[in-house]
Amino acid sequence: MPEEASDVVVIGAGLIGLSVAWRLAADGIQVTVCDPTPGTQTSSVAAGMLAPVTEVEYGEDALLALNLASVAAWPGFAAELEALTGLPAGLNRTGTLSVAYDVDDAAAIRRLAEYQRRLGLEVEELTGRETRKREPLLAAGVTAGVWVAGDHSVDNRQTVAALLRATELVGVRLIRQRVTRILTTGTTATGVQLESGDTITAPQIVAAAGPWSAQLEGIPQELLPPVRPLKGEILRLRVPEAYRPALHHTVRATARGFAVYLVPRPGGELVVGATTSELGYDTRVLAGGVFSLLRDARMILPITDELELVESVAGLRPATPDNAPILGPSGIDGLLWATGHYRNGVLLTPITAQVIAETVQTGAVPELAAPFLASRFSEHGQADGSAETVPKVAR
Ligand SMILES: Cc1cc2nc3c(=O)[nH]c(=O)nc-3n(C[C@H](O)[C@H](O)[C@H](O)COP(=O)(O)OP(=O)(O)OC[C@H]3O[C@@H](n4cnc5c(N)ncnc54)[C@H](O)[C@@H]3O)c2cc1C
Repeated sequence: MPEEASDVVVIGAGLIGLSVAWRLAADGIQVTVCDPTPGTQTSSVAAGMLAPVTEVEYGEDALLALNLASVAAWPGFAAELEALTGLPAGLNRTGTLSVAYDVDDAAAIRRLAEYQRRLGLEVEELTGRETRKREPLLAAGVTAGVWVAGDHSVDNRQTVAALLRATELVGVRLIRQRVTRILTTGTTATGVQLESGDTITAPQIVAAAGPWSAQLEGIPQELLPPVRPLKGEILRLRVPEAYRPALHHTVRATARGFAVYLVPRPGGELVVGATTSELGYDTRVLAGGVFSLLRDARMILPITDELELVESVAGLRPATPDNAPILGPSGIDGLLWATGHYRNGVLLTPITAQVIAETVQTGAVPELAAPFLASRFSEHGQADGSAETVPKVAR
């Protein structure tokens, strides 16, 4: 079987794999990316919210620091991508409005706002009237809001397209094939085998296979990352010219206890998401999912009834037991994880690329990423969370 060589092989061409490949190749490293369906999976399904503040969950403080670092990195990342490719990266820095439908919903968003303030995050509580002043087409029944200036959004499909072009421009080799096996000698990864039977040898492999990361073959079962697929259905609606812009900001609503978000795109698209279900690799869109998203969206934005339903799709969030990504050493020399980004993979794209590129080139995991090592899930994980070191790839 033909055998080729590369400095680095990246498994997976979603936002994570593509951005890692771009960063490494821009630094002069020879990179090969393998993916049978580049850019078309979870990264193209997502809503594209860049929302460290409104996504914050009780007890996820380490993740918050990483999320904040990544939202801060997004403008530079987008500008660099646009300068290189001449394509839009899709960044939309318009802030986010959390809204509540009834009084119980209002109590819930106020409790969260209180927690966000305790964490030092910038949030501004609004009355129902003030909320509707910012978004005049919201339902008259909206009782309260919380304004979050620092949470933004991106048209993630534009980002994927720009990254595919950027990787091409910096000389990344894209092979449209599945990796069937990670090749090892003893406890060292030496390359990958493709569907065709061909192999690519490389001193460094970065596994960025999203929700499929735990299915990779060739390494011991106990070293596979604990990543599982968490299904989410999402809709894309089209706002007729007469109603544009239906919304000026991302709106995240609590509507009679149900969570729904509406993310407007400058071109008139409105993304409505998302359901959450543990159904393995099932990506069928169920009628119940579409029903509940539309029911909740129209409660908050009554003109939803007048919008064209353009797309309904389901994707698989790469979820982990603690909702945080898995970055860096795998327990196999020469194999790094860049996976498990769960509901924040679009947000975490720039910082993940930075962390993994630095790890590959310096041999050390940056301090910011130390809480996200795979070893935190193993019995022998580093109890102090300190960074591990890995062999480095020279430019
Ligand atoms: C409904 C929904 C809404 C979301 N909304 C947001 C949001 O608003 N904001 C946010 O930040 N995140 C959001 N996310 C999460 C985000 O989409 C993911 O965290 C992110 O896309 C993960 O990127 P990835 O590159 O790891 O995975 P993917 O985009 O799935 O890419 C993985 C790639 O690996 C390839 N692959 C798999 N196995 C192999 C193999 N053996 N060989 C070669 N290639 C392989 C696949 O073909 C795929 O292209 C959402 C997710 C869903 C489902």
